[in-house]
Amino acid sequence: MSTRVGVGLASSSCDSLEEPTTLVRHRVVRSSARVRSSVWESVPGGVGSIPGMAEKITMTSDGTLNVPAEPIIPFIEGDGTGVDIWPAAKLVLDAAAAKHGRSVAWKEVLAGEKAFKETGEWLPDATVEAFRDHLIGIKGPLTTPVGGGIRSLNVALRQILDLYVCLRPVRWFQGVPSPVRHPEKVDMVIFRENTEDVYAGLELQEGSVEAARLIEHLRDAYGWQVRPDSGIGIKPVSETGSKRLIRAAIEYAVRRGRRSVTLVHKGNIQKFTEGAFRNWGYELTREEFSDVAVGWDDCGGEPGGKILVKDAIADITLQQVLTRPDEFDVIATTNLNGDYLSDALAAQVGGIGIAPGGNINYVTGHGVFEATHGTAPKYAGQDKVNPGSVLLSGVLMYEHLGWQEAADDIVRALEQTISEKIVTYDFARLMEGAKEVRTSEFAEAIVERL
Ligand code: NAP
Repeated sequence: MSTRVGVGLASSSCDSLEEPTTLVRHRVVRSSARVRSSVWESVPGGVGSIPGMAEKITMTSDGTLNVPAEPIIPFIEGDGTGVDIWPAAKLVLDAAAAKHGRSVAWKEVLAGEKAFKETGEWLPDATVEAFRDHLIGIKGPLTTPVGGGIRSLNVALRQILDLYVCLRPVRWFQGVPSPVRHPEKVDMVIFRENTEDVYAGLELQEGSVEAARLIEHLRDAYGWQVRPDSGIGIKPVSETGSKRLIRAAIEYAVRRGRRSVTLVHKGNIQKFTEGAFRNWGYELTREEFSDVAVGWDDCGGEPGGKILVKDAIADITLQQVLTRPDEFDVIATTNLNGDYLSDALAAQVGGIGIAPGGNINYVTGHGVFEATHGTAPKYAGQDKVNPGSVLLSGVLMYEHLGWQEAADDIVRALEQTISEKIVTYDFARLMEGAKEVRTSEFAEAIVERL
């Protein structure tokens, strides 16, 4: 089974890039008799696609994601600075694809303010259906309407499509100003659980009848004393939710030839949620990955040629990613820890304007890639902000589709542009002798260097 190590998107190459790509998901039956999915491998020659004709990405019954030469990909431009960053990112994504004989048929779908103005709805059903139907999509930032009880559109999309992994790779790009001395040591990929934990939305307001009833029940049934003027939140962390997240992280590590997977948790305090997450991670490693990975306690920290699965308490982790970043590689963690960790790490490598993200269900094949920053309304329409986050989310999407060469080209050209000190305002203010350019000019400079 060691053939899985290093196999996959990062190492695969398509000899004929005019050919469509098929991502083959190998089903592996383990000794525990559990069937698990999904090691993705890109192979040329997708099923049933005709180069030059826009087609949907599809999932076949045998668990294969079929990417045609010209996939139709829905996009949400985004509110606020979405009007600036999306066209810039699209320019670069199109140029990189074209260089390798590919193209994307972009299909605009509406969400946020633009949708509300045109349809009276913040997240029209047609948009959700487009993402469901086309499997893979990308989005700019969306305003979370304040008041009126409308939940975050981002959270809604994640929940409706059950996008259980929030994928946040964090690495430094040559030339990007950073507050730390060795940003080049940061190269981590965070797998944040996206559907459970205190983000499940199970909350009762202080003073409500429901909160009072629950407080009473907790006292009567368990003898728990909760102050009557408390708001209550529920933190569900399931074996199913934890294991599918950790499975995706270990499979990613296998595919990308990574060294370790760290389970980040707060299990010393929250034993049956965070502690259970850790225990299920080690259990899964033994049950399903014993040929390619090994838990710390099962090898005394000496994994041989296998991937080391270890764990770390969340608060210590936030220190150590700063002081000893090279000890972390792939990270699998619960929702709230992952939220804090992703943004703290993003700051180490240049911050919010350049951090990419993807929300993925590796079993159904659905993925929505997104800018991780907000709409920055004060800069909207000024052609000023950094398009790096949505552009690099597009890179992540290309990698997911098996378009590794186009993805690599964008990263190289972006690095070259930044190292020549051609940057948007956010980096310019941190760099000596920078040439500050507009959003659109930054994109053009990247395209020139592709
Ligand atoms: P924000 O829009 O992320 O902006 C905060 C600050 O981050 C900006 O003032 C700017 O800093 C910097 N920034 C953001 N985007 C940047 C870019 N592309 N390039 C360079 N710098 C950038 O956060 P917010 O002001 O808290 O939120 C505004 C709205 O966005 C809210 O409605 C919120 O709900 C929504 N939001 C959406 C998402 C999402 O869709 N994924 C995520 C977060 C927030 P400087 O002022 O220092 O230049």
